[in-house]
Amino acid sequence: MIYDLIIIGGGPAGSAAAVYAARKCLNTLFITTEFGGQSVVSEKIHNWIGTTEIAGAKLADDLKNHVLANAGEKLIIKEGQKVVSIIKEGENFKIKTDANEEFETKTILITTGSKRRKLEAKGADKLEHKGLTYCATCDGPMFSGADVAVIGGGNAAFESAAQLLAYCNSVTLINRSESFRADEITVEKVSLNPKFKIVKNVDILEVLGEKFVEGIKIKNLATNTEEDLKVTGIFAEIGQIPNTDFVKDLVSLDKIGKIKIDPWTGKTETPGVWAAGDCTNILYHQNNIAVGDAVRALEDIYLTIHTK
Ligand SMILES: Cc1cc2nc3c(=O)[nH]c(=O)nc-3n(C[C@H](O)[C@H](O)[C@H](O)COP(=O)(O)OP(=O)(O)OC[C@H]3O[C@@H](n4cnc5c(N)ncnc54)[C@H](O)[C@@H]3O)c2cc1C
Repeated sequence: MIYDLIIIGGGPAGSAAAVYAARKCLNTLFITTEFGGQSVVSEKIHNWIGTTEIAGAKLADDLKNHVLANAGEKLIIKEGQKVVSIIKEGENFKIKTDANEEFETKTILITTGSKRRKLEAKGADKLEHKGLTYCATCDGPMFSGADVAVIGGGNAAFESAAQLLAYCNSVTLINRSESFRADEITVEKVSLNPKFKIVKNVDILEVLGEKFVEGIKIKNLATNTEEDLKVTGIFAEIGQIPNTDFVKDLVSLDKIGKIKIDPWTGKTETPGVWAAGDCTNILYHQNNIAVGDAVRALEDIYLTIHTK
């Protein structure tokens, strides 16, 4: 069996493409390690269009249910498998998963998103999961009553701070630069909390502690002075790394590993392969953008299959 299309990744982008592919009767295989994608850990999402507020877990359920409602002869779902390699063979592609299954397809849509960037500082590796964590939703409640730090300046950092402020004694947000990438309204809202403090323009030198986090050593870049902040929890929200290692020999990547695409179509530089969402070098990464970009790519895939 040679599929028309294999979609890899079950976040917002892949799920949207799967629904469209089924409705266009493309013979599609959909492979994902899990449904929902990155914002599954968010307690509340306020900008998923059509809903005023939705939990990340509910969004994941909704995406899964929407895909499953379209599953059938034309849309086969493989949940719980990770694609580990893709090889071009003639006109087609052979895709292999970590369950040792192999599939053949004419076209591919890669929507594998990204994962969290790890903090690079002395002591960070040693104290990971011992006070240093990458998920406020998952681990935050363990730090009830504690003084904690959040590292980062984007929406994810401010969202994490907002969650932690509900039960921590204090939350200090540490940002490497002077300005924030987070939406102004989010910065303003979180900053109103008297338990919240911001430290800007600093380098993070060391995560302090023997068995568990006891503090964080920072250097003020304006004054060149060092300071130890006493915290027992550190939540790093310092950006994302694209999940593209498995396609590095198949498609062109930019210097941080994002798949280079043509923004008009979602085409990669490899004929027969499209990509959409957070794994690509498109500007701005959001749920709604990932969905729209995947739908555009799907339309282009459909047209390519039926006109080439
Ligand atoms: C904490 C947090 C909060 C956020 N809050 C918001 C928000 O409020 N609003 C908003 O619009 N955006 C938010 N975002 C951003 C948003 O989550 C992303 O832009 C969006 O998830 C991107 O969707 P995607 O489908 O491209 O990728 P992802 O969501 O990353 O999904 C990728 C999928 O691919 C699967 N996968 C990865 N590799 C493989 C492989 N090799 N084989 C098979 N499957 C694979 C993964 O399991 C995952 O299901 C937030 C992000 C984070 C981290």
